[in-house]
Amino acid sequence: MSSQALVCPSCAQGHSPDERFCRACGMPLVYSESPGAGEPITDRHARARKIKPQYAEGALVRVAGARHQAEAEFIQGMLLEEGVPSTLQRTRGFDVPDMLAAGPRDIMVPQSGHAAAREVLLEAELVSDEQPVITRPSRVLAWLLVAFAVVALIAWLGTDVLG
Ligand SMILES: [Zn+2]
Repeated sequence: MSSQALVCPSCAQGHSPDERFCRACGMPLVYSESPGAGEPITDRHARARKIKPQYAEGALVRVAGARHQAEAEFIQGMLLEEGVPSTLQRTRGFDVPDMLAAGPRDIMVPQSGHAAAREVLLEAELVSDEQPVITRPSRVLAWLLVAFAVVALIAWLGTDVLG
């Protein structure tokens, strides 16, 4: 399959075969087949056209879990219909050999497509309404600043009283 090249579905940047994610935007790479390759090109192009660029930005975040590969691919198809690109990862702690289609999967979508993907899955009742745990660096930073301000205030009050 040397005729296949990896390209980013979002920004169309080419990548070497050993890479899995776009260096520029972090999207999972897809194969760009040269004409005459086995798989129907029209289908692949149709898929690529469905992806909305505004849903293909940001780091990958987990949007849902599937019990096995088939269910995960079904969910991916639903997301694609709404223009959200996605990729699958084996759920941690359930590692099984790669050739097996067993074991749960995490469905990952770009950050910008997360809300749209949740909406699709909620509508299809494929996920519950619980919010995913997302670490927020900005919030941590805000608390650090508050803590720093309090310390500074105490220090200032201390010098004021003692001085
Ligand atoms: Zn890219």
